[in-house]
Amino acid sequence: MQLIDGKSLAKKVQSTVSTEVAQLKQEKNIVPGLAVILIGDDPASHAYVKMKAKACENVGFYSITHSMPDTISQDEIIATIEMMNGNPRIDGILVQLPLPKHVDTDKILEVIDPKKDVDGFHAYNVGRLVTGLESFVACTPLGVMKMFEEYHIDVKGKDVCVVGASNIVGKPMAALLLNAEATVTITHIFTKDLKAHTSKADIVVVGVGVPGLIKADMVKEGAIVIDIGINRTENGSLVGDVDFENVSPKCSYITPVPGGVGPMTIAMLLSNTLKAAQGRI
Ligand code: NAD
Repeated sequence: MQLIDGKSLAKKVQSTVSTEVAQLKQEKNIVPGLAVILIGDDPASHAYVKMKAKACENVGFYSITHSMPDTISQDEIIATIEMMNGNPRIDGILVQLPLPKHVDTDKILEVIDPKKDVDGFHAYNVGRLVTGLESFVACTPLGVMKMFEEYHIDVKGKDVCVVGASNIVGKPMAALLLNAEATVTITHIFTKDLKAHTSKADIVVVGVGVPGLIKADMVKEGAIVIDIGINRTENGSLVGDVDFENVSPKCSYITPVPGGVGPMTIAMLLSNTLKAAQGRI
């Protein structure tokens, strides 16, 4: 069994981004800029935004965070996004999810200029991804593909079971795998017999939010298991969606939580923002 070390790979990606940022500044006097919109006081969202701002600082980006109370109106959020769409210093706009219940998330995401949609959630970019065209791709699944590349795991022709079908994780993950010519099965909460699908797969990618959902008898010997889940236990520690202790001995490769997919998400956000800045004319 080999651990896929997302922490080291994320550092490597960040170091490449730093070098390219310095080059962009020197050659074109461009400093990539990221605007983050943070609504409400959910501690997890605050923690993620803080990590993202720190990562931006580390690679030499300009970044601003617009913090708003959860009583803010949808129109005020839209006005802020439109302001960022028109701000020439801003290359990427990120709206930290989840949004308060009175706000229509789909509507908000549609307001972001697709050229600044570094989270890859805008329907324009999702459509391009599914069509196999160049696009901004959601950072978490993009990070998983980067892991496959780094560890020379060729997904072409492999049977891959994606567990979880959200717009930000499972669906773009499945689209990327399909574009890379894997045979993809997408499963979700209403899947009748999850084990029947996972136990046949060469690769299981799980992003659900249920600690220990994937058990040892649900994966085949030698499988590759990618755990996207991040769950906080009662004692405050982080665990994934995979029963790591019992599943890992069966795997050829597995990602740990923490230190697996999590750090890759931020690294790919930086990479997407750099790409947006490189596209500035
Ligand atoms: P979500 O709630 O939007 O979607 C969950 C998906 O899992 C749904 O498609 C649902 O049908 C499916 N599901 C739920 N219970 C299931 C079950 N028992 N069996 C099979 N499928 C089931 O969640 P999300 O935003 O996609 O996040 C999923 C997990 O990934 C969470 O733990 C989240 O914290 C984590 N996450 C991690 C990163 C990262 O950077 N590593 C990024 C985003 C999300």
